[in-house]
Amino acid sequence: MNLALVVLVAAAASALAAALGVLPLIARPRPPTAWLAWANALAAGMMIAAAFALAEPVPGASSGAFALGAVLGIVLLHGSRTFSRTEGLALNRLDAATEQYGHEVLLVGTLHSAAEGVAIGAAMASDAAFGVFVAVALALHNVPEGTLLAAVFRSRGVSMVRAAALAVVANLGQVVLAVASYAVVATAPTTLPWALGFAAGALIYLVMVDLLPDSYAAAGPTSIALAVILAMWAFSLLHGVLRA
Ligand SMILES: [Zn+2]
Repeated sequence: MNLALVVLVAAAASALAAALGVLPLIARPRPPTAWLAWANALAAGMMIAAAFALAEPVPGASSGAFALGAVLGIVLLHGSRTFSRTEGLALNRLDAATEQYGHEVLLVGTLHSAAEGVAIGAAMASDAAFGVFVAVALALHNVPEGTLLAAVFRSRGVSMVRAAALAVVANLGQVVLAVASYAVVATAPTTLPWALGFAAGALIYLVMVDLLPDSYAAAGPTSIALAVILAMWAFSLLHGVLRA
């Protein structure tokens, strides 16, 4: 199969996985904020595992370009938050049933997932098997992130089906950026370390800024650390299996 098509299918499957995030809400329509914090922590652990894998040196590639790409990823994400006035927005407020808050959460989710699309595209351009690992990792992490998004939408009275659809919509940027970044790196292979660095920097920024700060207050730092390391361990195992 054409690798560009593999990127499209993998990124689309990853975006669709966000819809599964509504499943815990069937059992508990209004989950405790600690649940959302642990969902965030599991997603964070998977993102850190993916970032760590993206940071592995590529033979012949410039480590300076990787570092500059990482800085660029962090600066651009910070700039997008500042520009969209969503910096520091708490993503777990089930009591803030305003339309504006729902729009802001959707926007933050879209920016978050778009940056993750670069990780899928860059990894796939680096090595197809590695690309599949990153796509699987991000697809699975989209489930707990989908739970968080869907819980916020449900708290505003949105139906279960619509909340699942909105969680997928928030991840469509992941598909676009995955295909675009794959196309750029496949056309100009010298951009690979830049793209890998951008993706790794962006993933770490998103973990630090989007996922963890609110989680500490909701579930305590120790349980968050345990959930993060559990997800990292599971994904290190997955990486080993897919690499074997
Ligand atoms: Zn994420």
